Amino acid sequence: MNPLDWTNDGDGITYQCCRQCDSRWYFQRGFCPRCGSSNPTTLQASGIGMVHARTLVSRAPTEEWKAHSPYLIVMIDADEGFHLMAHGSMELQIGTRARARFIALAGRKIPYFEKFQ
Ligand SMILES: [Zn+2]
Repeated sequence: MNPLDWTNDGDGITYQCCRQCDSRWYFQRGFCPRCGSSNPTTLQASGIGMVHARTLVSRAPTEEWKAHSPYLIVMIDADEGFHLMAHGSMELQIGTRARARFIALAGRKIPYFEKFQ
């Protein structure tokens, strides 16, 4: 079964892993950003990680997003060893364990992180 990914309307997050050096990253590409090796593996992430940084967005970038502001953007250190940015609940602080669920916001499906013990 192919890994589920929210960018393809699935309730999941995928990441890539280098077959040569075991580097892991989030944005899909055809080569390893660390060693340049081609043909990385695409894997299913647990959707669980720790908040590395947070920023409160008060000035939405578009009219569509104005209705949702202020909202929180978090940088997540995923348990699998890659990083991603996503929306998250206001309670999230640096160091908080968090897990993604998938919600519709401003007309599209997105990962949304919430506190997780
Ligand atoms: Zn590599």
